[in-house]
Amino acid sequence: MRIKVIVIGAGIIGSSISRVLSMYENLEVHLVEKEADVGWGVSKATTGIIHPGHEEDFEKHPLRAKLCAEGNRLWRRWTREMDIPVRWPGELMIALDDRELKNAERYLEYAEKNGVPEVRLINRDEMLKLEPNVNPDAAGALWAPTAGVINPVKAVIALIENSIDNGVKLHTESQVLDVKIEDYKVKGVLTSRGFIEADIVINAAGLYSDLVSRMAGIDEFAIYPRKGEYCIFDEKAYPKVARILHPVPTEITKGVYVTTTPENNLLVGPTAEDLPKDAREDNSTSKEGLSFVLAQAERITRTLPPKSKVIRTFAGLRPEPPMGRWIIKFYEDPWGFINVAGIRSPGLASAPAIAQYVVKLIRNGLDIKLVKKRRWLPYRRSIVSFRNLNRKEQNRLIKKDPSYGNVVCMCRMVTEAEILEAIRRMRKIGVKTVTLDGVKFRTFALTGLCQGSYCRLRIARIIARELGVPLWRVTLRGEGTDYGIGDVKALLKESNFYEE
Ligand SMILES: Cc1cc2nc3c(=O)[nH]c(=O)nc-3n(C[C@H](O)[C@H](O)[C@H](O)COP(=O)(O)OP(=O)(O)OC[C@H]3O[C@@H](n4cnc5c(N)ncnc54)[C@H](O)[C@@H]3O)c2cc1C
Repeated sequence: MRIKVIVIGAGIIGSSISRVLSMYENLEVHLVEKEADVGWGVSKATTGIIHPGHEEDFEKHPLRAKLCAEGNRLWRRWTREMDIPVRWPGELMIALDDRELKNAERYLEYAEKNGVPEVRLINRDEMLKLEPNVNPDAAGALWAPTAGVINPVKAVIALIENSIDNGVKLHTESQVLDVKIEDYKVKGVLTSRGFIEADIVINAAGLYSDLVSRMAGIDEFAIYPRKGEYCIFDEKAYPKVARILHPVPTEITKGVYVTTTPENNLLVGPTAEDLPKDAREDNSTSKEGLSFVLAQAERITRTLPPKSKVIRTFAGLRPEPPMGRWIIKFYEDPWGFINVAGIRSPGLASAPAIAQYVVKLIRNGLDIKLVKKRRWLPYRRSIVSFRNLNRKEQNRLIKKDPSYGNVVCMCRMVTEAEILEAIRRMRKIGVKTVTLDGVKFRTFALTGLCQGSYCRLRIARIIARELGVPLWRVTLRGEGTDYGIGDVKALLKESNFYEE
């Protein structure tokens, strides 16, 4: 008999759990997400660092310390298997003076205890060799060569495409409203699209995980949003950094990072600002926050590109649990409920290891025998990126499919063929509403210097044509975000303007 499992939340945690659970023959896995697409929660706006694990205090946060180091190792295999764009430039914790250098020493002990290889203190000369764009007056650095940078939304998409190929069912635009319990056992979840039965419910709802936990009668923690603001520079803005740079951490935050993203943009941030509990949707940026991150970045770098080269600012919200402790546990009452809640940093780095830990909870905690599938597909390919091909390969593709010859996003050189492939893939995984943001996160169109002023309309037209809907029906990110371009009269008619 197959055991039905519902995973609530298609962020990096829920999607990693889905992938790992899809390896088992006797599990039927449903991934339930309130948004129109996947990866739009906390996981959307992060620094994207696959931390090595040497910054986690093994005494205060043993689980974080163990799973981060393990996650870093697993990501090496996972990124290869699923063709996820990643860079492994290593990380320099910059000590501006001798006192900071002394403070950085404690991370050597963490590295040793957490099993993080090759971490060592380096002097100014070696630091400058590793990173020409570091502040030349800094005293030295802690060098952790195993750090990586990933695009978190692309990672979520890859994990979910791979999960779907292995039999997981995705339910988008399905907000969980209640968890049904009978005889001290979970029976399923009530969503905005109806009831789904389940024997096991895994709560990976990020910022909302305390609310979902309460639906199951477990009211033992509250999640607070902690905001992080960022500036991202144009791809052509120089100088960039070759390594991941950040200062010596404080108790609250690892500090402001300076990195070059896998898509080749210089990224600076985040701040760390605690917000009230009800501010879970406050993604606003502020002059103070952005000035702060730029000033902090200036302290550890030699030169930053001019501020005028910032093409976008954004903010993310960390789901902060009490004392910073992840809540990853199963319950006897109600039996079958598992919290994977309050997964603040380094949640992205640790996600594959967290997923494997959840399997252990199912096996050892809930005492369920899991049977591995004989045929499980570990591989998945990314959408071909036209701009990363050489001329010969580009010409070969255009001959095969002329829509590769139609460049729709000039800044990022994204072709019509890539947009069509993104739409096809959204539909394949079960996205009900194909959105502009969905295309953006899959192809990186709309993310260049013009921020979509050239290509947004063109992409909206392609979506409208492919879906057979009026142009103004295309949305940025699902219901209520209609682009509203095209026939204005039709738009007004639809909104009953003439009747009023
Ligand atoms: C500013 C910032 C920087 C960070 N930098 C790093 C970093 O560099 N490295 C690192 O390792 N970690 C980093 N983190 C932490 C990391 O991003 C998080 O640990 C991780 O993204 C949490 O993922 P999640 O899947 O738990 O949450 P989410 O991504 O939020 O996923 C939860 C999903 O659940 C859905 N959901 C919520 N409620 C419901 C409901 N009722 N019904 C259905 N669906 C629901 C949401 O829509 C969402 O999609 C950072 C976080 C922030 C905010």
